Amino acid sequence: MGRNRVVVYPDWCKGCGICAAFCPKKVFAVGQDGKARVVNEEACVNCGFCEPHCPDFAVLVIPGETDQTPCPSETAQDPADQTAAKEVKP
Ligand code: SF4
Ligand code: SF4
Repeated sequence: MGRNRVVVYPDWCKGCGICAAFCPKKVFAVGQDGKARVVNEEACVNCGFCEPHCPDFAVLVIPGETDQTPCPSETAQDPADQTAAKEVKP
């Protein structure tokens, strides 16, 4: 599975620290320059917190490629459908 990419736009970041405080994986840290930076990108689980909670829209998360293996629940057939299919066969 591809890794998620996390980007902070320094021109927009005001260093409020919300992302660093609430990211469950400690992906961010606010530096001495008063800007957040990505320090632990490989730990990002794309939980969806940081982007909508940054007050200055300074965070972007680019999801990695996902495993293409289909979910079993998506491929399983409903037994009722199978019964119906049998009924319409000549
Ligand atoms: S939440 Fe946004 S503005 Fe605040 S430190 Fe993080 S990137 Fe900067
Ligand atoms: S998506 Fe979640 S885990 Fe990833 S950087 Fe944002 S808050 Fe952290």
